[in-house]
Amino acid sequence: MSPTASSPAVAARMSRQSSRDTAQEVAVRRILHSRGFRYRVNAPVPGIPRRTIDILFRGPKIAVFLDGCFWHGCPTHATSPKANAEWWRSKLDRNMARDLETTAHLAALGITVLRFWEHETPEDVARRVGHTVRPEQPVGPDGQFEANLGPSGTG
Ligand SMILES: [Zn+2]
Repeated sequence: MSPTASSPAVAARMSRQSSRDTAQEVAVRRILHSRGFRYRVNAPVPGIPRRTIDILFRGPKIAVFLDGCFWHGCPTHATSPKANAEWWRSKLDRNMARDLETTAHLAALGITVLRFWEHETPEDVARRVGHTVRPEQPVGPDGQFEANLGPSGTG
């Protein structure tokens, strides 16, 4: 049985998880798509029912997860709700254990797993994903892509 939301902050976090596509996820996908990357969204994890990969590149076998800071225990932003503390602790521990299991499972299948935190900017996430998917892409001295950015890429 789940506890009810005990504060507005907790309620906000709970509702955030229920939406499949976070703002960060949408923004990251938009940037990648605009740079010519093609991928599957919410692809099933092979062999584990009811688990999905946020962004999957099938050819190069790269799975991208965008993890919510609260639900996945970000070391910077993890908080412990005081109400129902024990329930939350075990719930969040289970989430983190499941993340590790999913990562190990995919790695065993030869799939590279990239995990990012919710607090990372979409631009930074997209750049790192792009670099992993297309390592041959020219990269500038500051780590930025120099190719295929279009006219706005030089600013
Ligand atoms: Zn965080």
